[in-house]
Amino acid sequence: MTTIPKPGPGLRQAASVTPPAAAHADPSRADDLLAFARRADAADPLAAYRARFAGAESDLVYFDGNSLGRPPVSAIERIQTFLREEWAGRLIRGWDEKWLRLPYEIGDRIGRSVIGAAAGQTVIGDSTTVLLYKLARAAVDAQVARDPQRTEIVVDTDNFPTDRYVLDGIAKERGLTLRWIEVDTSAGVTAEQLASVVGPQTALVVVSHVAYRSAHLADAAELTRITHDAGALILWDLCHSAGATTVEADAWGFDLAVGCTYKYLNGGPGSPAFAYVRAGLQGELAQPIQGWWGTSDMFAMGPEYVPAPGMQRFVSGTASIVGMLAMQDTLEMIEEAGMAAIRAKSEALTAYAIRLHEAWLAPLGVTLATPAEPGQRGGHVTLHHPAMREVNAALWTQDVIPDYRDPGGLRIGLAPLSTSFDEVYRGLAAARDTLRTLLATT
Ligand SMILES: *Cc1c(COP(=O)(O)O)cnc(C)c1O
Repeated sequence: MTTIPKPGPGLRQAASVTPPAAAHADPSRADDLLAFARRADAADPLAAYRARFAGAESDLVYFDGNSLGRPPVSAIERIQTFLREEWAGRLIRGWDEKWLRLPYEIGDRIGRSVIGAAAGQTVIGDSTTVLLYKLARAAVDAQVARDPQRTEIVVDTDNFPTDRYVLDGIAKERGLTLRWIEVDTSAGVTAEQLASVVGPQTALVVVSHVAYRSAHLADAAELTRITHDAGALILWDLCHSAGATTVEADAWGFDLAVGCTYKYLNGGPGSPAFAYVRAGLQGELAQPIQGWWGTSDMFAMGPEYVPAPGMQRFVSGTASIVGMLAMQDTLEMIEEAGMAAIRAKSEALTAYAIRLHEAWLAPLGVTLATPAEPGQRGGHVTLHHPAMREVNAALWTQDVIPDYRDPGGLRIGLAPLSTSFDEVYRGLAAARDTLRTLLATT
């Protein structure tokens, strides 16, 4: 790996000529953990992207890019230009000239560059929670209409709260039953677990591709196949996958998916989410928030709602154009770097964090709550210890920013484009010292 030249301005080339597997050496062989970080940063074909994020030059250690990504430097310029030229300059003409198409154009771009979806199946709008509601409601209604026996929605006990709450609401609204898969907070849904609960009674299965607590990476192709064998539909939550982990929505046979854009896609606080609906399914679904933006001729302002063809029928009201600006800068970076190289760096970063955990934190009683097998984990690492709530709070006062999730989990989010190996080293060294101090004084 030391023979790989330092990436310079020819980033695109550096990323494409360097096989990702060779670019990231195995940290378990590194005896000097700091020297490893230095070598890994020097050899990292994606290293130069870090400078393209505002604030990354400071000493702050940011382990929350999986929750709110850093802003791209070029987004600042893009937003200012939008305000001056597009909003101030074009005023309401902007809708016809450009903005009306943006939810579909950026949706297609996310489809192509991030989640492996052909054009015409992805759209941006609303929050993940609202899109999840719209797609899940549409899916169960279509299933029950086709076969009244299909009265169950399958979801796991450790799925993200909004997923569980939304599905609980839909079940109550439609007289359906939630079928729970019991999942440990340091694991995720397995093929065996899913196979044991789906059947002729299943309408819909909802799974997070990457579990928000443990980072467990579900076998999406296999879980989708099991769901389809049972005659059910599956909705994937890609919030912790999009921009960190490769996703092949079309190739893996997804029916439906939703995901955030303010995490690894750096869209900014509250930037709108994306929805994917398989082309062959779109015409069969009717979503419950029937707004004027989803009707087939919105400016006819006709007497009743007629669902538009294609992805437009999943849109409800006026799109947040301002919220769609910053993510375009990240999409440019992802298109340059490629998701395969981004995933390779993500695996290398999580492997390094786990190596540091073994060397420094395991001896203090910290346990790994993330799958040790790289192919089974997403872009973050969760470390368990009863004192982690206090450790997290103390780290924030030192400009080291991970987050805390019950029970006792310190969550280390490692956004591949903006995180350096040196940053991982500094952050986990601070976690070690903080925990050591806490344990000595209590
Ligand atoms: C972050 C996240 C959400 C967030 O939903 P919002 O509507 O944007 O608040 C949903 N699901 C998962 C799995 C998440 O990680």
